[in-house]
Amino acid sequence: GFVQDIAQANTLLGHFSWTGRIRRGNEIRWIHIESSPTMEDDAIVWNGVQSDITDRRQAEESLRLSERRFQLVMEATHDGIWDWNIASGHVYYSPGYVAMLEYEQGELPAHVSTWINGLHPDERERVVTEAEKCLRDPGHYQLEFRMRTKAEDYRWIVSRGKVVEWNAEGTPVRALGTHVDITDRKAIEVALQQAKEAAEAANRAKSDFLANMSHEIRTPMNAILGMADLLWESELQPEQREFVQVFRAAGENLLGIINDVLDLSKIEAGQLTLETIPFDLAGELEVVCDIMAMRARSKGLQIVCHIAPGVPDGIEGDPTRLRQVFLNLLSNAIKFTETGGIRIEAACQAAPSSPAPGLVWITFRVEDTGIGIPEDRLALIFESFVQADTSISRRFGGTGLGLAIVKRLVEKMGGRVDVESQPGRGTVFILTIPFAVSQQAVTTTLPDLSGRRVLVVDDTDANRLLFREHLERMHALVEEAANGFVALEKMEHALATDKPYHLILLDVRMPEMDGFRLVECWRAAGHAVLPIMMLTSEHRERHVERCDELGLRHYLIKPIRRDDLIRTIQRALSLNPREDAPTHRNIPEAPMVARCRRILLVDDSEDNRLLIKTYLKGETCEVHTAEDGKVALEQMRLHAFDLVLMDVQMPTMDGYTATRAWRRIEKQEGLPHLPVVALTAYALRENVAQSQEAGCDAHITKPIKKKTLLEIIERYARPPGMISLAQRESR
Ligand code: ADP
Repeated sequence: GFVQDIAQANTLLGHFSWTGRIRRGNEIRWIHIESSPTMEDDAIVWNGVQSDITDRRQAEESLRLSERRFQLVMEATHDGIWDWNIASGHVYYSPGYVAMLEYEQGELPAHVSTWINGLHPDERERVVTEAEKCLRDPGHYQLEFRMRTKAEDYRWIVSRGKVVEWNAEGTPVRALGTHVDITDRKAIEVALQQAKEAAEAANRAKSDFLANMSHEIRTPMNAILGMADLLWESELQPEQREFVQVFRAAGENLLGIINDVLDLSKIEAGQLTLETIPFDLAGELEVVCDIMAMRARSKGLQIVCHIAPGVPDGIEGDPTRLRQVFLNLLSNAIKFTETGGIRIEAACQAAPSSPAPGLVWITFRVEDTGIGIPEDRLALIFESFVQADTSISRRFGGTGLGLAIVKRLVEKMGGRVDVESQPGRGTVFILTIPFAVSQQAVTTTLPDLSGRRVLVVDDTDANRLLFREHLERMHALVEEAANGFVALEKMEHALATDKPYHLILLDVRMPEMDGFRLVECWRAAGHAVLPIMMLTSEHRERHVERCDELGLRHYLIKPIRRDDLIRTIQRALSLNPREDAPTHRNIPEAPMVARCRRILLVDDSEDNRLLIKTYLKGETCEVHTAEDGKVALEQMRLHAFDLVLMDVQMPTMDGYTATRAWRRIEKQEGLPHLPVVALTAYALRENVAQSQEAGCDAHITKPIKKKTLLEIIERYARPPGMISLAQRESR
């Protein structure tokens, strides 16, 4: 090109301008030449300027590429781009931006008011204010809003942008950003939110339904069980007694199932909250064994509870739920065991992972010698409504909910449950649960038996071990005898060596020579009376009688609770001289209700009113009744009551509303506090809070037992004469 151009310029003698590439060494450079001819001595002389424009050419090239790329991006994407000159209000809206709002190209006026006017009227103010705020901020911003389309409907847009230029005074002059259509995403979000709300509503409905169902079932159950109890106390033919026993047991069973269903759904709805209170673990386990002992004994089984040394006495947790766990496990163990025994064990273990300070991990083992569980069923038994062998379970009864509840409760406590089993040989459930060690003393102080010799006579190895551990914790010197003969020998030897035993723990039921026979032999040999503590189990009345006959003042009934053991030892060794009475275990009597108490019973169920009235028949208290909250309030205005028993769910006016109304009246008129006890079929924990909030003093869950009712009256009713009845009567 250069050769041609210069030839032409030479011919025409015109201006020569040329841009092209030349090689300079290894490099190719862009140059530009401007030159003009002049005549000097008849010769044509070209003068001019040559400049290297390589850098400029490259910059132009990359600008061209960048513009092309920008163009392509605009074409390829559905997103919109805007470029706003803040000072003039002029905005460049990209084709994507325009198309997003369903306009043709060129239809949208290029001004910021186009955007502002397109905003949904409900959001305009918010969005403009937020956009103004964003302009003051040097960072990126993001806004979500709806914009009107040409067809007059709205699309959800997310706008992301940034101020890109500021003037010398720091005022923003240019901002740039994108618009992305998020209408579909918003629709999904709304659908999700609605689904979530619907699920929450369904959950609430389920929980309300359960509460209502529980109420509906518990109310008649209250009448059935209560009446069955009353019938049981009356004179009955042996056959009738059997019938009543059957429906009492069936009723209790049904109630158990209702409680299980409620518990499980509560856990699944995430409504179960665990308590954290200090409690005595050993005491709690003893109570559990105590509760189950009868059932075990009726099958000829013994429950042994062993707490290894090192397990702290006081821990923090939810004793009620822990008790529920063990009751479930023990009840299964008894149900599925025909011979042998059940052992419950607690031991401390090193923390499985990094130990938190003040936490102990306790491993519990509940072991039986029962039918066992086939290996392929082991993983399934913790699921709801699953039974290892339905044919066997049908024989034993059950719903398949117990272990599901156990597992969930233990997991909620932060622990885990495992099971090992050998069909035909037995099963062991292993629970590992973390507990905080309680700083508060919750246990009885142990007596100091240092230097005292104690002989434990029992044919069961596990029992001897258990007593040994208890006694050694009290620093006693413990010896053991596995039968009466060995025991007699040891006692003789101790006497002969002038080291008689200070205390003998003597099991009644032993093969060949039972405990009573041993005492008789000892006495027949002319030996002095020794402090003997008899350990009895079944046939408690007969044994107690026999103890009295033999003048044995100290005895305990198995399974033995540690607190009872301590107390009995203290008495037997006169460690607490003020209390030298025979140590019969107290069997609590139903407390007496003070006379002349006036009670208002509010319940819409006639059966329940009749039941409670019948419970209180022999108690010489005056019972008034009301069938709903409204009638109750009228009665409360008319008479002076010492206690109100207030059903919660009633037509016309429910119990909580009535209680709240009465508390207001009390406040306004300066009346003394009238105790109100809510009678509720609801077994959910939040219902307790609800009755407190309504102003009730206490809360009892139906079905109500006579004993509980009398205790409640004794505890909460105003003692008669506390306020002048005449005074209130005259109101
Ligand atoms: P339920 O006892 O009401 O049937 P659970 O959830 O408590 O329900 O137990 C589920 C199943 O696990 C039982 O039906 C039984 O087959 C099996 N199972 C539980 N504990 C034992 C045990 N100690 N020995 C043998 N089988 C057991």
